[in-house]
Amino acid sequence: MGNRVVVVGGGWAGSAAALTAKQAGADQVVLLERTDSLLGTGLVGGIMRNNGRYTATEEMFAMGAGHLFKACDDTARHRNFEFPGHKHASLYDVSKIEPAVRRCLLEHGVEVWMFSRFKEVEYSGGSINAVILESDDRVEGDVFIDTTGSCGAQTLCTDNGNGCVMCVIRCPTFGPRVSLAGKCGIPEKTGKKADGSYGAMSGSCKISKETIAPHILEELERTGLAMVPLPDHLIDTKKLGTKACAQYALKEFAENIILLDTGHVKFMSPFMQIHKLRQVPGMEEARYVDPYSGTLGNSMRFADLSPRDDAMRVQGDIDNLFCGGEKAGLLVGHTEAMVTGALGGHNAVRALAGKEEVILPKSISIGHAITTVREEMEFEENMGNKYTFSGSIYFKKMQAEGLYTTDHDVIAKRVADAGLTNVFEQRVM
Ligand SMILES: Cc1cc2nc3c(=O)[nH]c(=O)nc-3n(C[C@H](O)[C@H](O)[C@H](O)COP(=O)(O)OP(=O)(O)OC[C@H]3O[C@@H](n4cnc5c(N)ncnc54)[C@H](O)[C@@H]3O)c2cc1C
Repeated sequence: MGNRVVVVGGGWAGSAAALTAKQAGADQVVLLERTDSLLGTGLVGGIMRNNGRYTATEEMFAMGAGHLFKACDDTARHRNFEFPGHKHASLYDVSKIEPAVRRCLLEHGVEVWMFSRFKEVEYSGGSINAVILESDDRVEGDVFIDTTGSCGAQTLCTDNGNGCVMCVIRCPTFGPRVSLAGKCGIPEKTGKKADGSYGAMSGSCKISKETIAPHILEELERTGLAMVPLPDHLIDTKKLGTKACAQYALKEFAENIILLDTGHVKFMSPFMQIHKLRQVPGMEEARYVDPYSGTLGNSMRFADLSPRDDAMRVQGDIDNLFCGGEKAGLLVGHTEAMVTGALGGHNAVRALAGKEEVILPKSISIGHAITTVREEMEFEENMGNKYTFSGSIYFKKMQAEGLYTTDHDVIAKRVADAGLTNVFEQRVM
């Protein structure tokens, strides 16, 4: 049997999967990305280590999959700071992170193929043999990992959001996302908004730094955070219910303009009409840089979620497909994408080597989250929920189970007790 791993989708999940597949000893790992850049939605995110994400991050270091987290730490503009509802956060620099990740993957021997949009599968007898790219090139593999995320196609935003708002995903330029499991005829699920309609809207926009008042910019760059109270007539608490990131659906985020310094100005609101934003003192000249039409809406996410087990293996009539990131369910965030992607990449190689796949136990937060979210997604009424280590329902569960800690020794011991120290560094073939 060969050992060529094909990872489709170069966001945080795909980057992590490619890296752990290589660490596990696969000869050839090909990462296919449809655009000109890695990291997908991670190109405009930045918030790391807030609340329970700190615990999950340190578990990943202890398990030998810390490389991408180190890249985030190394490019962080602010470390260990607080904003409403969130402790010990860090913010990676959205302008510096992509080259840092690309370098890391290349140094580890991952083949990174840009402008490589997958459009079809060659599937027979319960296995995928190859994927066909937009260019009609055929990419063979022994095992495949779907990390294409949950954004787009454009119709997701036109049918379920406020239209295409020209976000960083750039569907019109690079073509739509396509689901591997879907192409193999496996039924998938879609997340829902609070009102039961499909999808969820992304929760932040980016504003050009040059367009905000100097005193706000000074505070933002010095501390990482600037909060500007909204005039009463601009407060809209209804918008909180539409957000993909439930951890920011707090009243402070409705009553203030909350800005974070990620290199861009990260405005913690899904959208706001620019003429209203410009009524806020200090924001009179504000201009959106992502999405360009942040005045009307934001990207829609959580379409086509693959059924999977706790080893990140896609369930259905298929024997060589794994998944990670948003594709793998309602677990939201960079950290969340990296942890599920990393497990998918590692287990894909174990499957090739004929070895038992790793299932992370519930005694560590990552294992607990992966199992909990899968179990909750079995009930349709939970498809409106979003889960993250950083807040809302899942962080509460983490705290209730005593899993949340920032104590590195405690985390290292839990990982050691589970027999998982440096598990992702072990070659399995
Ligand atoms: C505006 C915004 C701000 C955010 N801010 C934060 C934040 O501050 N902190 C945080 O933790 N989380 C944040 N998130 C959420 C976080 O970005 C995501 O949950 C996480 O990064 C998802 O990673 P992913 O790899 O699963 O998917 P994606 O980021 O969607 O990546 C999927 C990748 O697959 C590629 N792809 C899709 N289809 C194909 C195909 N057919 N062929 C080849 N490639 C394909 C895409 O181009 C993309 O690069 C934010 C999200 C958004 C939209």
